[in-house]
Amino acid sequence: MKLKNKTAFITGASAGIGKKCAIELAKKGTNLILLSRRYKNLEKLKVRLEKYDVQVTIYKADVANFKKLQKIAAELEEKSLFPNILINNAGLSQGLDPIDQADVEDWNRMIDTNIKGLLYISRLIIPMMKNFKDAHIINLGSIAGREVYAGGNVYNATKFAVHALNKAMNIDLFGTDVKVTNIAPGAVETEFSVVRFHGNKEKADSVYEGFKPLKAKDVVNSVIFALRQPRHVNIQEIFLTPTAQRTTYLTYKN
Ligand code: NAP
Repeated sequence: MKLKNKTAFITGASAGIGKKCAIELAKKGTNLILLSRRYKNLEKLKVRLEKYDVQVTIYKADVANFKKLQKIAAELEEKSLFPNILINNAGLSQGLDPIDQADVEDWNRMIDTNIKGLLYISRLIIPMMKNFKDAHIINLGSIAGREVYAGGNVYNATKFAVHALNKAMNIDLFGTDVKVTNIAPGAVETEFSVVRFHGNKEKADSVYEGFKPLKAKDVVNSVIFALRQPRHVNIQEIFLTPTAQRTTYLTYKN
């Protein structure tokens, strides 16, 4: 797909991989619809992105709030702002405790955001994309959606769900020009671990000590690679890890 003058809807654009996707797509001339809970971050990002001469529309919303998302979708329809690209990126991990000790609120947040949020957004946005000759859904999965690791339990389950839903979308969109790609990274240094450890920066930093993790830009390179393929090529999955990490539970540290 040629990215100039297309429109991408990105969830979770206030930080990390989603934010970097927005920046790199803006540089390529893609108009943006950005959504997340931290509106101030989106406002700042909008000012930065508009320097690339693209149209940027921002929304404060929780992807788990279907009613709010319905209002946003209705507004997009009213404005005829139809996305060619949907990046289902909003997601989080919470806690690393075994199932018999974990906080059920952590489970609820992960299930609501990573599974229900992705489904709600997809349900509302995919109908707007179906008539395009060139459209693409990118789902942010994870290597945690392929291999379970100690304490990963419910986060793993949500990312296994993303893996399944990516396959399901490819089947459901059979016969259309909407491509579907699962981008499944290993460890990426973003706010992810700070969120997992409920703001404990020291604990979060220790995750990335002794090896070189992926940067958000490395993941975005894969997103752009998938998006830029010719119309007849649908990359269904990209699985990428730091060189030091070969599975979810094997990271070489020195
Ligand atoms: P991050 O830096 O913490 O960013 C997460 C983004 O998701 C933020 O913009 C956050 O925005 C948004 N978000 C979280 N909950 C939300 C909700 N309920 N509603 C709307 N937006 C929400 O983490 P990241 O590493 O960029 O993660 C992006 C995606 O990559 C996630 O799906 C994650 O599971 C996946 N992933 C990450 C890694 C990694 O090691 N970092 C590895 C594999 C896969 P607000 O807080 O402003 O709402």
